Amino acid sequence: MSGALSKIESAGFNVSLVGGNLAVSPASNLTQLQKEFLRSHKAEIIQELAAVTLLETDRQKILSYLDSINETDQALINDLLERCRTDREALAWVLNWADKVRGKLPAPPVSVTCRSCANFNSYNAHGGGAGQCDAGVRSSGYCRWADDRHQCGEYQSKM
Ligand code: SF4
Repeated sequence: MSGALSKIESAGFNVSLVGGNLAVSPASNLTQLQKEFLRSHKAEIIQELAAVTLLETDRQKILSYLDSINETDQALINDLLERCRTDREALAWVLNWADKVRGKLPAPPVSVTCRSCANFNSYNAHGGGAGQCDAGVRSSGYCRWADDRHQCGEYQSKM
């Protein structure tokens, strides 16, 4: 936690982000010195709060996703929200997964080849022929001819 944020919180104030601005309570207890401190450290405190705050839009997206899969275990829901609040990597993964599950990502290409996919590891120096799909679309060891056209939701263009 930033020195500025912890300093104002340890003085007995709750600090939060409201519409991108700092909200401090109880504001009426702030001394002139504390107000000046907040003014001079505002950007730093906002940055730190943003890093540990789950945006309402993200929270709603996660809840909407959980609802769509009929998840009703409140303890699990709370755990996931807390994890997403404190772990940016986990948040990015969950939001991406929610998009995927809810069909908000672009539709997969109608017809692709493994040869042009970043997930394809050819067994051959020329990059074609048989190989392995690192995305797990096919089980380990499965070989697909690189130029067979097919539909694939995990396709990642090498371009
Ligand atoms: S993700 Fe799809 S297109 Fe890419 S290598 Fe695997 S099976 Fe082929």
